[in-house]
Amino acid sequence: MSTITAISTPLGVGGISVIRISGENAITAAAKVFSIFGSKQVADMQGYTCAYGEIVDEGGRSIDDGVLTVFRAPHSYTGEDVCEISCHGGVFVTKKILRLCIAAGCEPAMPGEFTKRAFLNGKLSLTRAEGVADMLSAEGDYALRSAELAKKGRLYERIRAVQDSLIKSLGELAAWVDYPDEDIPEVDEADLLAALEADRAALKKLLRDYDSGMLIKNGIDTVIVGKPNVGKSTLMNLLLGFERSIVTDIAGTTRDVIEESVRLGAVTLKISDTAGIRGTDDAVEKMGVALAKSRLQECALIIAVFDASAPLDEEDRGLLELISSLHKRKLIVLNKTDKAQLVSVSELRNYSDKVIAISAKSGEGRDELSELIESMFTPEDYNADSTVFANERQKLCAERALDCIEQSLTALKSGLTLDAVTVTIDRAAEHLAELTGERASEAVVNEVFSKFCVGK
Ligand code: GDP
Repeated sequence: MSTITAISTPLGVGGISVIRISGENAITAAAKVFSIFGSKQVADMQGYTCAYGEIVDEGGRSIDDGVLTVFRAPHSYTGEDVCEISCHGGVFVTKKILRLCIAAGCEPAMPGEFTKRAFLNGKLSLTRAEGVADMLSAEGDYALRSAELAKKGRLYERIRAVQDSLIKSLGELAAWVDYPDEDIPEVDEADLLAALEADRAALKKLLRDYDSGMLIKNGIDTVIVGKPNVGKSTLMNLLLGFERSIVTDIAGTTRDVIEESVRLGAVTLKISDTAGIRGTDDAVEKMGVALAKSRLQECALIIAVFDASAPLDEEDRGLLELISSLHKRKLIVLNKTDKAQLVSVSELRNYSDKVIAISAKSGEGRDELSELIESMFTPEDYNADSTVFANERQKLCAERALDCIEQSLTALKSGLTLDAVTVTIDRAAEHLAELTGERASEAVVNEVFSKFCVGK
């Protein structure tokens, strides 16, 4: 395999930049561009050691001084010989060193190629590799923790446990089916059933966690609803921390849906500020209201806003009834607490146990609001330790495996031959092997690594 090189740190002016080389000729190539101060030679460096020296160009001129770290195969990230040259930031210098490495015989790495080699050399499973890709793009602490755990192989371990259990069942079945004359204990169908049911439960749990995980990772789809003038736009601006939509005193000015992302602690909300839900004759407004209603069906969090300085009217009550009939996470915000209070928090508690009084205008209660929202999604609903799938590919494999387990259970319960049961358990195990990459096709492998950036 060729020896590859890439700049592994973000390009820009920083304290240091790292140029990485991996492959058979990594050390030879590094020796051409890096010269250690003193008498030591790069070729003699042991694995896990560094040396201080200078990076020199073809003419022997010094480009920069830096540190060379050597990793000897197989004890490196990729499993091959790896050299890392740390130099002094700067786009120009870093690119120059990269060009020198290429001149020294290295090929420019493709996106994700270092991690791909690590996978091909058995250094990490496909799920862990996907964890690396995810970490590079994770939003929010929880997403990051989950990605870290995937990289450390927590998902792999959980899948592995199910896989082992399936293989154990298969082993028992195969022995019994293939060697009927041997004195092998008969397969206990009750035990087999129990094992399959446990496997099914484990996969179902993983799939459930995936959905919560997606919420955290991609942002929680949030809708702010309420009559005109209760302060929806003001609340949205408060959450965003800057002026976004035009806030006016004329009822019904927020006609279209505006979407924005906002980080609250560990979670990210994708918020749309909608037209108030109410009966209206105005065509433009109607569209806004219809849009708002359909958004309520789709979203993951409803923030319903009410004006504390005006008694609840028909419209407010209609909205309260509507949201309490939806099986959604919802938060009631009683706004304008800086004015005389005509609506109480306890009145609204009948419709949701999450009620908070704030003044969107003055910002009073903002932190409490942020904490409350964060607590609605963590940690009960999302446990980063229960590592979830990194992507739809993994989820699909798990779903297919679950399907096969269901079929095995049905076959077993309806008294089909153990041969038939064996076939479906075998397929379930195959799908899981595909998930972790033990049996990934080249197409899948390429797909996974194409998501990386160069240098990883
Ligand atoms: P929307 O139609 O629901 O989006 O309401 P707006 O955000 O446009 O607010 C309507 C009016 O209420 C504006 O004049 C805001 O300044 C005012 N408003 C919003 N929040 C508060 C608040 O907490 N206290 C007070 N006193 N006025 C507010």
